[in-house]
Amino acid sequence: MSEKPKNITAQVSRILKSSCVDGPGNRFVLFLQGCNFKCINCHNPHTIQHCRHCAECIPHCPTQALQLNTHKKVVWRQAQCTGCDKCIDVCPYQSNPKILQLSVLEVLEKIRECHLFLNGITLSGGESTLQLPFIVALFKAIKADPALSHLTCYIDSNGSLSDAGWQRVMPYLDGAMIDLKAWQSETHLWLVGKDKHRVISSINLLAKEGKLHEVRLLPISEKSDLGTNVNQVGQYLKKLPRKVNIRLNAFGHHGVVGEALTWAKSTESDLLTFHDALYKILQRPILLPSVYL
Ligand code: SF4
Ligand code: SF4
Repeated sequence: MSEKPKNITAQVSRILKSSCVDGPGNRFVLFLQGCNFKCINCHNPHTIQHCRHCAECIPHCPTQALQLNTHKKVVWRQAQCTGCDKCIDVCPYQSNPKILQLSVLEVLEKIRECHLFLNGITLSGGESTLQLPFIVALFKAIKADPALSHLTCYIDSNGSLSDAGWQRVMPYLDGAMIDLKAWQSETHLWLVGKDKHRVISSINLLAKEGKLHEVRLLPISEKSDLGTNVNQVGQYLKKLPRKVNIRLNAFGHHGVVGEALTWAKSTESDLLTFHDALYKILQRPILLPSVYL
């Protein structure tokens, strides 16, 4: 008899039933709320904090889709929401009241509705691995279900999970995409609020286990130090298996708030200069951005 999935819940900020940019093929993507990095250039800052139920956003909702329940918690009525995002704009805590608390069984049901058109599912965020027990239970249930076991299970992560954490999900994980945002420790600490050693450790472990799908680099002129350290970055990436994608992302202002709005956006020429310098070392294809926002 197959084991019943553990019905753990997760705080879900967004669901995409079909995406071609969150891993290989057509993927069902679940974005989980909450992040342990504080990237100055975050393009989704409202996914960083969990809602504090301060109720400040309620009067700004034009359709009364937000209400305070008897436990003084803000409740989002999805059917009344027009998606205007006024609540996100006024939130003083980089949060979002439009959160669904979904169980593993509820997510499985949503995946079953479209599984025939999918290659896999991706857990993204925020930082999805902060809700690791949910991910482990969900991936385990997918692998154990004959109707869903063809779906590959991927995680899109900032790389902050410990090696012990990765080992918990490893038996059910098919691939991971990890961001490498800066090279020198001081720059990494300044840019994201955390040291980079966990990120490097995650990349190394996933590569060793054959589960590293992609490393994503975001060279930002005069802010991230990937460009000025391109030789060291290249020598490090060169040691990874050749099947690992190396992808360059462009910095833009979409979704960004605060200081980073004064930073220069990446241009095609910036990215090509970085690409060419990295290519000289790696001697293999490097994926360039398809859009510059
Ligand atoms: S989303 Fe922000 S403003 Fe609205 S209740 Fe939560 S913390 Fe307060
Ligand atoms: S996005 Fe939805 S919940 Fe938020 S203010 Fe607009 S209608 Fe209200």
